[in-house]
Amino acid sequence: MPQVLLLEDDPAIAETVVFALRREGFEVQHHLLVREAHQQAQQQRPDVAVLDVGLPDGNGMDLCRQWRAAADPRLRALPVLMLTARAEEMDRVIALETGADDYLTKPFSPRELVARLRALLRRSSLATVPAPAAAALFELDEDGQRIRFGGHTLALTRMEFRLLATLLSAPGRIRSREWLLDQVWGLQSEATDRTVDTHVKTLRAKLRECRPDLEPIATHRGLGYALELPPAHGG
Ligand code: CA
Repeated sequence: MPQVLLLEDDPAIAETVVFALRREGFEVQHHLLVREAHQQAQQQRPDVAVLDVGLPDGNGMDLCRQWRAAADPRLRALPVLMLTARAEEMDRVIALETGADDYLTKPFSPRELVARLRALLRRSSLATVPAPAAAALFELDEDGQRIRFGGHTLALTRMEFRLLATLLSAPGRIRSREWLLDQVWGLQSEATDRTVDTHVKTLRAKLRECRPDLEPIATHRGLGYALELPPAHGG
């Protein structure tokens, strides 16, 4: 039975979500406070987390950011769906930059939430071993929109930056082309699977200029891309 951590302070929304998830066979732990949700995530290892943004003692996006930077690889890889208030591009970008895997805009249908969580759980079951060694070679400067690799600042286009930052947000996790298109380019854009491949290619060339001995973006045939290093470098 997949265990869902739900962090939501609106009682009406929480009640609907808890009811819908339990009916679909999920086990749900509901929290009103960021502090409690963080404690449970550390102690009970939920399979997926659903985070509201505005909570009485903090912010769900900050919590997600905290997990993505955590020393514990299981917290770093915990799939997160963010519940945002508005469908505006900025919210989507911010939700993504916290390292969230998906987001839903309120009001949402419980059925949609269940479908998204199932998809997240399927994707996370494809995850390879988290690769902190690969991620440690990178330094992400979000304010400056720059990424350093092996001590060199990469000269990246805006989309290359977003693509690499997205892969970096969950090292070891395999991301499909469709997912990357949605997260990096947005569903409205005219980008295609081919666009993803082209950007990965130019990104790899730039990474190779810094470290010819490493190939940190791995291709998983039929599945997508992941940031990882082969075992020789990953230990
Ligand atoms: Ca709230």
